[in-house]
Amino acid sequence: MADEEQSSGTAGFSTRAIHAGQEPEPTTGAVVTPISLSTTFAQDGVGNHKGYEYSRSGNPTRTALETQVASLEQARHGMAFASGLAAEDNILRLLRQGQRILLGNDAYGGTFRLISKVWSPLGFPWTAVDLDDLDALRADWPDDTGMIWLETPTNPLLTCFDIEAIASIAHERGALVVVDNTFATPYLQQPITLGADIVVHSATKYLGGHSDVVGGFVATSNDELAEQLVFTQNAAGAVPAPFDCYLVLRGVKTLAVRMDRHCENARAVVDLLAGHRAVDRVLYPQLPDHPGHAAAAKQMKDFGGMVSFTLNGGSDAAMRVAAATEIFTLAESLGAVESLIEHPGAMTHASAAGSPLEVPDNLIRLSVGIEDSADLVADLEAALDTV
Ligand code: PLP
Repeated sequence: MADEEQSSGTAGFSTRAIHAGQEPEPTTGAVVTPISLSTTFAQDGVGNHKGYEYSRSGNPTRTALETQVASLEQARHGMAFASGLAAEDNILRLLRQGQRILLGNDAYGGTFRLISKVWSPLGFPWTAVDLDDLDALRADWPDDTGMIWLETPTNPLLTCFDIEAIASIAHERGALVVVDNTFATPYLQQPITLGADIVVHSATKYLGGHSDVVGGFVATSNDELAEQLVFTQNAAGAVPAPFDCYLVLRGVKTLAVRMDRHCENARAVVDLLAGHRAVDRVLYPQLPDHPGHAAAAKQMKDFGGMVSFTLNGGSDAAMRVAAATEIFTLAESLGAVESLIEHPGAMTHASAAGSPLEVPDNLIRLSVGIEDSADLVADLEAALDTV
């Protein structure tokens, strides 16, 4: 990908990650973007300012981050938020009351909770849809749909969907397409180039990359949508602090090298799991029989650092393995340098119990970090040998 960009005259991915929006600071020459803590900015005369008035409306450190990540998503506009869910909430405010949200039937539990428990009672109906079956999607498309919302790969089953095909179905029917690109990151997939209207991120994950900041991001190339999103970003005010912007900005600089290592380590873990007697099924988009493998191979540069699997011994075995690893830390979240293990049914996706988005109780999700792969494989093997 980088080569194509360079030959077409656009700087490569990592060059943009390190330089977009981050010119040396003009007064001192500081190479690192300063953390601008000032909440207010002096004006020469009323309304005559240098582009900043009040830090909720705009902040120089936030601008640097917004420029950087928008550039990586190949989007004209970027907006940073206080969390991934704050970013999602900002997007949902584009809808008019009565417009339906179609949600892919595997998604982050918090997204499901926001749509079904916060927005639905306010008069925004929603339906869970099987995005694998495009004929059914076309045939059963509800007329009142305003927005289709998908993750690819999904959390936690890592199913992949053809963004271009879904965007074309939605656009023929006048609906907006939102893609949560948290798992893939812009290094592996750029949904806007595939027809998505809006990309959303939990920047808490791979963008930040070090488990030390909660953040969210929205990108779009649609000027009209951007105007509304920026209006609500300021009007509702779910903005990130300058220090948090700095942490994400710094994390993103190394996104490409981290993602290459995440993918490489994930493959080593998948090889172990595929041959272990305790494992029922390995879920990883690179596997030829994985749901959506063809879409992933078409639209992703590589297959990511997330791996899920089910255990032959059911829920008890899953609970035991989750508690038995030493390098893989038992914890929620994902996408950082350290490896994490979790039981989605009891942890990240507990809010989806009893819904169409409920996950199997023998499922384990791994966020494969960038430690030495031999240590990760040995750790996991020892845990699997206990069941
Ligand atoms: N989207 C996905 C795919 C996630 O996994 C998460 C959190 O785990 C979110 C959105 C929400 O992001 P945040 O926790 O930063 O609010």
